[in-house]
Amino acid sequence: MNTMPEFAHTNGAMHADESPQTDHRVLGPANKPTHPMALAPVATPRHSVDGFVQEFLHELNTTQGVTLSASTINDQYKALALTVRNYLMARWLETTRNSIKSKSKAVAYLSAEYLLGRQLGNALLAADLADIAQEGLKQCGIELWQLRAQEVEPGLGNGGLGRLAACFIDSLATMNVPSVGYGIRYEYGIFRQTFVDGRQVEQPDTWLSLGSPWEFPHPEAAVTINFGGTTEKYTDEDGRERTRWLPEWDVQAIPYNYMVPGYLNGRVNTLRLWSAEATRAFDLQIFNSGDYARAVRAQTFAENISKVLYPEDSTPQGKELRLQQQYFFVAASIRDFINQVLGEDFDLHNLSDRIIFQLNDTHPVIGVPELMRVLIDEEGFGWDEAWEVTSKCFAYTCHTLLPEALEVWPTELLGRLLPRHLEIIYAINDRFLEQVRDRFPGDEVRVGRMSIIAEYPERAVRMAHLASVAATKINGVAELHSQLLRDKVLKDFADLWPEKFTNVTNGVTPRRFLRMANYKLSGLLTETIGSGWVTDLERLRELEPCADDPEFREKFREVKAFNKRRLTNLLRARDGIDLPEGHMLDVMVKRLHEYKRQSLKILHVISLYEQVISGKISADEITPRTVVFGAKAAPGYRLAKDTIHLINKVASVVNEDKRLDGRLKVAFPANYNVTLAEKLIPAADLSEQISLAGKEASGTGNMKFALNGALTIGTDDGANVEIRELVGDDHFFLFGMTEPEVEALQAKGYHPGEYYQNNPQLKAAVDLIQSGIFSGGDRGTFDSLTSSWLYHDRFMVFADFDSYIAAQKKVEEKYADQDAWTRSAILNMARTGYFSSDRSMRDYMTRIWNITPDF
Ligand SMILES: *Cc1c(COP(=O)(O)O)cnc(C)c1O
Repeated sequence: MNTMPEFAHTNGAMHADESPQTDHRVLGPANKPTHPMALAPVATPRHSVDGFVQEFLHELNTTQGVTLSASTINDQYKALALTVRNYLMARWLETTRNSIKSKSKAVAYLSAEYLLGRQLGNALLAADLADIAQEGLKQCGIELWQLRAQEVEPGLGNGGLGRLAACFIDSLATMNVPSVGYGIRYEYGIFRQTFVDGRQVEQPDTWLSLGSPWEFPHPEAAVTINFGGTTEKYTDEDGRERTRWLPEWDVQAIPYNYMVPGYLNGRVNTLRLWSAEATRAFDLQIFNSGDYARAVRAQTFAENISKVLYPEDSTPQGKELRLQQQYFFVAASIRDFINQVLGEDFDLHNLSDRIIFQLNDTHPVIGVPELMRVLIDEEGFGWDEAWEVTSKCFAYTCHTLLPEALEVWPTELLGRLLPRHLEIIYAINDRFLEQVRDRFPGDEVRVGRMSIIAEYPERAVRMAHLASVAATKINGVAELHSQLLRDKVLKDFADLWPEKFTNVTNGVTPRRFLRMANYKLSGLLTETIGSGWVTDLERLRELEPCADDPEFREKFREVKAFNKRRLTNLLRARDGIDLPEGHMLDVMVKRLHEYKRQSLKILHVISLYEQVISGKISADEITPRTVVFGAKAAPGYRLAKDTIHLINKVASVVNEDKRLDGRLKVAFPANYNVTLAEKLIPAADLSEQISLAGKEASGTGNMKFALNGALTIGTDDGANVEIRELVGDDHFFLFGMTEPEVEALQAKGYHPGEYYQNNPQLKAAVDLIQSGIFSGGDRGTFDSLTSSWLYHDRFMVFADFDSYIAAQKKVEEKYADQDAWTRSAILNMARTGYFSSDRSMRDYMTRIWNITPDF
């Protein structure tokens, strides 16, 4: 029964809109009114169910313009989001005001991607409102979870790199670090994946179609970003030779602010994402010339810049629009920081006292020549002065080991789009190569290797080299990865500047991936060791003794069973997939890439199936297991898409075959994203981290699984190495070649065909694919895949097959002893608190940024 008022009581005072229509851009920073009461601009509403309900109904009435009884679920979701936002507002304004006032050093995290996940649950948690909201909504006849399910997650990233940025800004807010995230507000984020006949089909991600209640657009703070044109030399009034850029066209960068609330600490940082719009001047000029159609085209052209996220993960395409995106957001961010945060009278010689720009991979590296241009061309600095400042303001995180993932921009393209920046890059390179020649006289081969400019196959700018030259620090994202950067990928730079290199092992935020995603486990943890672990994850260590406590193990198993039921319900509703009860849940979720080796996992499934149908083993020898895949493939990546097709086809055959007695199932829910990860990971028993050693920089999925009590089957790669060291060999299923073994095999000459010929089990699995059994009798459907394995196998799936199968046997043995398995699962969780992104942030602060938190 609903006894709540239809209308909220509104504040009696009427607020006339007194602000005249002015062009805010003509208002200088001096024009800032103050009033003592402005110190507490928004009163925090009462933390009570009644207060909450009033606020909620008020939002429903005044913002959505509906009564409760007339409201749609989307109205309710939006009103709830606005209500929660209001609770955080005073803290946000306070944080922003303090950070401008305090003049402490801040971090600007520059990232082309933020894979944020849904915002509502996180905001409720940070504001400590979840229980109140649930109760208040219930009084209105609304279920909180239904409103949460309404939110479309902002998928403004591809995978690990974008999710890392999201975890980092969460930790920075929670740890009271003055910081701002800068990025791009893509109108279309990562595509929505669907399957048609088992093949991936991409649909546009229309995350903004119902509007986003989480963003605050600030068109009045727009920044103009220039492109194209030419440069010219001139002599200034002091008789100095100067250069100026005469751009050909420009766009407006409109900032959209997002709250980044810390966990129960009263701090709300800012994420500022830029959206492109046509400049008015440009428009008007064309409109006045009477060419309406052209004017509209110009607008479309400008707005294209932030239209869509490039869906390539690890294999960037040298597309002009992508470089436009990169320059667009980085130039806007640098300008924004200098103008809005520092203010007009700041002496830019001291810039590095106030800011460090952290470059999330090479995507924002064009910021280096941009800052040089600002200092030299706009501020009148000399070259050396400008370089002195610039080379202290950037730090570079490298995220890869794959040569094809290193970004390179043809000079033809870069020079056409950013002519002044290309000149500056050449000048940086000249001085840099002089340094190399001084240090290594006569070593012209080295000079060629290290040059920022590549000459083959075409003249191009190597962005990783530009980043390495300019950065104060260069870091890899796991111990092994950082070592391989020093020894291989960036070895020449490490020879020249060993002191620049450091490691910061990645982490994940315990708020989203444990506290929110696994609230049952969170409850058990808090009941056992208190709630301190949420912001001090190493305290999970206190749970180690619980691994030997049968009662705790039983509770832990109940939590896992609950999470499996929750996943079962979700997948039934979301995908029409039925998960069988009582199965081991074996999960491989991550972007689809050859180096990650989803093919090895599906070969394992095919091999089990083959052994049963050929009578080599009987179905009851198989451990009941459901293998769950989740993966998007880059739309132009043929082999990755073929792998998705194969997995789906194997699933439809295996799932239907009665000979397996229901003991082996394959589930591939479409559209893996953060929302699905939050449901899948807590339900998993086994975490698949099976990349070829030396290829996965770190991985963060591996950390999320271990923290949620899954055991890992994995190679000695990325952060798997550190996970295994922490949890211990007895609680980790290691397999495969080590990185030096991979290198040795490569050097000796790798012939996958030999493994196929010499390993009957592998041969039988591959032959089964080629028999056409998974493709309605057509033997050629998967030829591109099978021949790529048989004749190239760049990531040595065949070489590791045997070892993988053997490790899976060990998995089955351990799983048969549920007490032993649960014990290991508890120890995995208890020993991996190190992988909190809070710890990563602390490492960045001490090793790279030289920053201390605000208190
Ligand atoms: C954590 C995460 C990733 C990264 O997974 P890896 O296994 O480290 O590649 C990718 N996508 C989503 C949605 C994630 O949450």
